Amino acid sequence: MTHAGVTDAVVGPATVGTLIDVLRARGYQVVGPTVRDGAIVYDEIRGAGELPVGWTDVQDAGRYRLERRRDAALFGYAVGPHSWKQHLLPPRLRLLTTRRDGDGGFEVEEEPVPRGAVAFLGVRSCELHAIAIQDRVLLGGRHTDRDYAARRGEVFVVAVNCHEPGGTCFCVSMNTGPAVREGYDLVLSEILDGEHRILLEAGTPRGVEVLEELGGRAAEASDRAAARSAVDGAADRMGRTVDAADLRDLLADNLEHPRWDEVAQRCLSCGNCTMVCPTCYCTSVEDVSDLTGGTAERWRSWESCFSLDHSHTHGGDVRASGRSRYRQWLTHKFGTWHDQFGTSGCVGCGRCVTWCPVGIDVTEELTAIRANSAAGDPETLIRGPAGEAGDDIR
Ligand code: SF4
Ligand code: SF4
Repeated sequence: MTHAGVTDAVVGPATVGTLIDVLRARGYQVVGPTVRDGAIVYDEIRGAGELPVGWTDVQDAGRYRLERRRDAALFGYAVGPHSWKQHLLPPRLRLLTTRRDGDGGFEVEEEPVPRGAVAFLGVRSCELHAIAIQDRVLLGGRHTDRDYAARRGEVFVVAVNCHEPGGTCFCVSMNTGPAVREGYDLVLSEILDGEHRILLEAGTPRGVEVLEELGGRAAEASDRAAARSAVDGAADRMGRTVDAADLRDLLADNLEHPRWDEVAQRCLSCGNCTMVCPTCYCTSVEDVSDLTGGTAERWRSWESCFSLDHSHTHGGDVRASGRSRYRQWLTHKFGTWHDQFGTSGCVGCGRCVTWCPVGIDVTEELTAIRANSAAGDPETLIRGPAGEAGDDIR
């Protein structure tokens, strides 16, 4: 219940359907988890029946499959291939359209920014950290991305405390979960200790308003203890761990580590890891025209460190080898991101591990580099790996 300064309630699982109805009645398009093509993805949902009720995901390096649970949990899974990035920084976006006018000139029409409020339902703590990272990149600097700003400004966030870590999750190592701490309007904890119930807590005034429409009973100490115990259990069952201490310096000291050659033997440069990563933000822009040349459009699409074109400058490709492209990805994500944005670029969601077709695991790569670090080993630093033709910046 809502009291002065205290904003929580305990409701039954059916009230999640009411929550969706209330948000829709308030004008929000609700985007939440749903099952499609054998995975849990984030898409528009219109009722609780579209949630992945009774499903969980089983994940490992290069492996993902859905399995039936023995209960009717609404949020009993980890994270799937989608992140909220899809809805804030769309994979493909038209930026402008140019049309010839009758006088030999042309008109430029900038794409209007999206209007309309959106509610995200089921946002995990690691994902809130990922959104905060993208906010720093796309809103925080001198240049604000107008489309991202329009989408981000309207989002009502219903977060979920994570009780079911995936086999590739390592948010505890990255200090980004599994408990939700900030950045939400409402946060829910799904309790499954015999009585299936949801503890709802509001984090903002508009969260309080929505909570008041849902009813329910006041939360008791036993409800909070059950929710805390579930989230503590998730922390204890994390699928992966990594030593995240001083990763920036570790990677800077090991730019010629033999492990880069070893991982390049396995990496396909497919770019899956960057597409599923909720913090990767690189895009490319291309102009396309119709056959008459009367109309041209400028489109922005997600881009990847693993694409050869992405490092193309006049005269050639700066990162011509798979080795240099993988190293660029890992050293930026876990190292130089600190210099640019003040935090790691990784939130430990595990997606890049799960969705790598050959099962390359960032936690394993970082552990291998640390185990045989070149720091203090001048032989390794001087010797470096065998050269590779065309690999300019190794
Ligand atoms: S690098 Fe991998 S684990 Fe880290 S945030 Fe990106 S997808 Fe998730
Ligand atoms: S690490 Fe895996 S997902 Fe990433 S580019 Fe290489 S093969 Fe593809």
